[in-house]
Amino acid sequence: MEEGIRQVAQWIIHAKKTVIFAGAGLSTESGIPDFRSPGGVWEKYNPEDFYFQNFIASEASREKYWRMATEMYGPIKKAQPNPAHLAIAELERMAKLDCVITQNIDGLHHKAGNSEEKIIELHGTATYVTCLNCKKRYDRDEIQERLRRGAKVPYCDDCGGPLKPATISFGQSMPERETEEAYQRSSACDLFIVIGSSLVVQPAASMPLVAKRSRAKLVIINRDPTPYDEMADLVIHGQAGPIMAGILNDVKKDLS
Ligand code: NAD
Repeated sequence: MEEGIRQVAQWIIHAKKTVIFAGAGLSTESGIPDFRSPGGVWEKYNPEDFYFQNFIASEASREKYWRMATEMYGPIKKAQPNPAHLAIAELERMAKLDCVITQNIDGLHHKAGNSEEKIIELHGTATYVTCLNCKKRYDRDEIQERLRRGAKVPYCDDCGGPLKPATISFGQSMPERETEEAYQRSSACDLFIVIGSSLVVQPAASMPLVAKRSRAKLVIINRDPTPYDEMADLVIHGQAGPIMAGILNDVKKDLS
């Protein structure tokens, strides 16, 4: 593992454009469960309960969705960035980061100090809520307060449309600008580092392929194996926090 950490640090130092691609595994050390690990969200809930079509289809589904979303928002609101988020923010300060493409909805890259223009949130964010009808935006805490006071499903004050966290559910269209930018950045980078993703959720999981086909080096840092391990230039299996802290340390040592 030590050798892998040193190698990634060298690649970051010499890369012209480093893209970080983050998944839920980046935030488990901040106390937010991922989907597929033991104790993850899929052990508690049926993935179908998250389908966008169901949310649209019935009041009962919306009620169920908001119950799950409320339970998942608790740890997200409390969470603080861990050493992996902080290392990514530090890479930006050292001008060593092209961007972070994140599947995460927890806002921890912002909290860690990455700037808005460096963060591409592919699956939206849980930090605010929008009306599916008129797109009016609401503060998440304000909506959670309505639920706490007894509302089962929140509706828009202006048009009466259903409110939903600004996250992308299964079956919901991907955000156009973010998706396009993520593809463009993936194809233009020379180093692509996946951190904490099972790489099974599409189309996000095709980004490493795009990068590799455009001749970028591909690094995968993940606790468990992924379907792309074989095509990667380097795979490090382990915890994102200590690994990223080690990489940052090596980059700093070499550049000082
Ligand atoms: P996933 O749950 O499919 O996979 C997470 C991967 O991270 C697993 O392969 C696991 O081995 C690995 N992992 C877990 N903890 C780790 C750690 N400390 N260090 C290194 N690796 C670790 O997650 P995914 O690939 O991101 O895809 C699932 C979807 O889940 C995404 O669309 C994302 O939007 C959503 N999601 C986000 C959050 C969040 O915002 N924090 C939480 C749960 C789910």
